[in-house]
Amino acid sequence: MMNSNSLQKAIFLDRDGVINHDPGDYTRSLAEFTVLPTVYPALQALQAKGYLLILITNQGGIAKGLYTHQAVHEIHSAFRRDCQSQGIDITDVYYSPHHPDFGESLSRKPGGLMIERACAKHQIDPTQSWMVGDKPRDIQAGNAAGVAGVLIPVNGDLLQIVPTLTQVPNGENHPKTASNGTV
Ligand SMILES: [Mg+2]
Repeated sequence: MMNSNSLQKAIFLDRDGVINHDPGDYTRSLAEFTVLPTVYPALQALQAKGYLLILITNQGGIAKGLYTHQAVHEIHSAFRRDCQSQGIDITDVYYSPHHPDFGESLSRKPGGLMIERACAKHQIDPTQSWMVGDKPRDIQAGNAAGVAGVLIPVNGDLLQIVPTLTQVPNGENHPKTASNGTV
């Protein structure tokens, strides 16, 4: 039986447009993957506050045949290596290779399954955690898993929202507490 005090807290991060520059098209290869300027200091600050850092990304370009699982793994390996060199540990990365034009998927955002899996695997308390994204579907995915969301502009400044992310979500931005009126 797990004590609730042993649960972790996490920042779930969308990838394209949050971590790396989104040019308005798919990021097909490592050569096209450019990390946004304030990402490393922002992740360092969040990690220092005790948050696990987990990527949650739709990669429907795989279903469309635009790039492969291998290309996605290469990008994620390189990013995690670069993070390590900055003292940042990316706890896990979840991606959904599906696209609605090519079949149904529960994992693809706005579905919450990737986040639910991450919470189960890493013993994360959703009520202490945040989802950061640049599209409404990112926030919907968080909410579906009971996680509050912060929407930033595409290619926005992650460092700017660190003060928000280092607070416990309250009744205003937390989907579950907001719906039943308690904080
Ligand atoms: Mg995005």
